[in-house]
Amino acid sequence: MAASTNLKSWIASANDRGTDFPLANLPYGVFTHANTTRIGVAIGDQILDLQSCAGEGLLASLPAAVVDACTATALNPLMALGAEFWSALRGRVTELLHESAGPEIQRSAAAMLVPQRDAMMRLPAYIGDYTDFYASIHHATRVGKLFRPDNPLLPNYKYAPIGYHGRASSIVVSGTEIRRPSGQTKPQQATEPTFGPSKSFDYELEAGIFIGPGNVMGESIPIAEAERHIFGLCLMNDWSARDVQSWEYQPLGPFLAKNFATSISPWIVSMEALAPYRVAMSPREEGDPVALAYLTSATADRDAIDLTLEVYLQSTQMREQKMQAERVSGGNLRDLYWSIRQLVTHHASNGCNLRAGDLLATGTISGPEEGSEGCLLEMKHRREPLRLPTGEVRAFLEDGDEVTFRAFAQCEGLPRIGFGVCSGLVAGS
Ligand code: MN
Repeated sequence: MAASTNLKSWIASANDRGTDFPLANLPYGVFTHANTTRIGVAIGDQILDLQSCAGEGLLASLPAAVVDACTATALNPLMALGAEFWSALRGRVTELLHESAGPEIQRSAAAMLVPQRDAMMRLPAYIGDYTDFYASIHHATRVGKLFRPDNPLLPNYKYAPIGYHGRASSIVVSGTEIRRPSGQTKPQQATEPTFGPSKSFDYELEAGIFIGPGNVMGESIPIAEAERHIFGLCLMNDWSARDVQSWEYQPLGPFLAKNFATSISPWIVSMEALAPYRVAMSPREEGDPVALAYLTSATADRDAIDLTLEVYLQSTQMREQKMQAERVSGGNLRDLYWSIRQLVTHHASNGCNLRAGDLLATGTISGPEEGSEGCLLEMKHRREPLRLPTGEVRAFLEDGDEVTFRAFAQCEGLPRIGFGVCSGLVAGS
């Protein structure tokens, strides 16, 4: 069914102007309700329980593999099936929830709804491996300038998507408290490092990319096929201890500064839902090298996604004074130097096997202008420090700060679709 503003549901909250989850979205997640864990689809302020839909025969028109996958307690089996199967399921869920559904279907499907406020969201998949990239040239440049003012970008940046292997065991779902990590740090003036709680604790605004069908080890993924291996996107916070990072990162890259916790949003927005919001990649600057052949896409005119991302911060003081979280920055996924297609292809270009449920992340998403920094570290370039409505100043996160990411796609003639939230509160060390 084509996306249009007329895509109305019989579920009233799905037609609310501000909802993240209209009928055009239908993101997948895993939730626990009444002591059972199930796969569901977000619709307005409700969740459509797909396991119950499968059990009651509401998905009987679909291939058996899809029905089976809907009864799992993680999305990996559905992710492994591939785009035709996802599309068939999305089509059927759209039929069930569309305002034109007959009274009998509406009655049956209504019995499969769980209010989101009564459900506990889980990690959406078993994440076998997690890789973080560095795809925003604006982030790489601002961070590089702090260390190398005359030469912020290293010579490989415009040739290869830079990344590192992260830690899957410490990926947690939005809402999980994040304990301030301890580690080795060595201030520039000090002669020796000391061990203790990080004093420059930061967030990184990122998008997560969930892999669908994988590739056989030893085989690569051609750029034209890369998006067939993507199940969908979520929000991600790659919490970072900058003081630990600056001491440990050479020569092998990030390690303990980042592997203690990574938060993701519980809902995965499908590539099909995002299809109407595709736009051209930002043109490379004059003088930049052209991408090597294996990274050159024939569809660069629609390889980016026009997705607005926002960072909100609420301190303990703000919470006590009943102040709303403050929007402290915002960027757009279209500003990346490397597309999500290029990230997938580059990752598998040496024959590395990706598997269903693997998580790739874009790296901090920043734009060119002040106000679009995807982490606090980059705000060191501002003339004025970040000031909260209470008058508090933030160079880095304090205990009690809650960081919340939001994202939405919106354009003329199309409904707004959102990602829900990815949030985490900083607990003491
Ligand atoms: Mn990162």
